[in-house]
Amino acid sequence: MGIRIGDYELTVLVDTHGVLGSLAELWPGVPARAWEPYRDLYPELFEDGNWHLPFGCFLLRSESHMLLVDAGVGPRQGTFLPSAEGLLPRALADEAGVEPDEIDVCVLTHLHVDHIGWASSDGRPQWPRASYIVSRTDFNWVEGREPLERDRVLQPLLPLVRSGSLALVEGATEVAPGVHMVPTPGHTPGHSSIRVESHGSKAIILGDVAVHPALLDRPEWVYLFDVEPETSVATRRAILEDIEGEDIVVACGHYPGGAGRIVREGSRTTWRPV
Ligand SMILES: [Zn+2]
Repeated sequence: MGIRIGDYELTVLVDTHGVLGSLAELWPGVPARAWEPYRDLYPELFEDGNWHLPFGCFLLRSESHMLLVDAGVGPRQGTFLPSAEGLLPRALADEAGVEPDEIDVCVLTHLHVDHIGWASSDGRPQWPRASYIVSRTDFNWVEGREPLERDRVLQPLLPLVRSGSLALVEGATEVAPGVHMVPTPGHTPGHSSIRVESHGSKAIILGDVAVHPALLDRPEWVYLFDVEPETSVATRRAILEDIEGEDIVVACGHYPGGAGRIVREGSRTTWRPV
């Protein structure tokens, strides 16, 4: 069941789950003991010294609009996680009751392989009627990367370019009534988050602004795959300040359950699924 945000229903759809790597490798500046309080808070995210996480996407549905935020790891087994399961199309059909041609808009928060996998399959856009919205800054960044990385990211996007369904945008962009894609750079140069506001109800889909909920409490921790680490830290702090005290659903596809709320527990900023 989805979460009501005014006219919209927000549904979490998990594409994949698995171990990405060891905490020591992924957060080289963070000593093992610093993770201890977060092991108690988020036991699902720890597997010994490794980070075990879901790779989720979000459906935003109203009477008139059907949006998908992010496209998971996708069908390309072995390109990212050996355990990639590619559950998204089945989750859309079975859990949300949505057919591929019902999706109007697919917004990609950033161009990392675990967020774009199902953009296409078999050389065709996965959602044939959808317009796919991507930050121009991120697209330009990918085109300038070394060939192996560039091609790996462009592979699922090329069918969208060929079919004319890829829209590159700059700055804050309204992608549906009350749904805005807003620049939150750092994790990637053109990284964006999705803000939803409808009849006074609010949600923010963070993308990978804070890939682990521990970063909501420790925004200064630097994650290995933050492309611009200093900007990423500044963006995390700015977002936290921005939503401080707001009654807002906070969603991230890498958090257990995907959608929740920020809760103050003593001096700690924690996140609890709705
Ligand atoms: Zn990610």
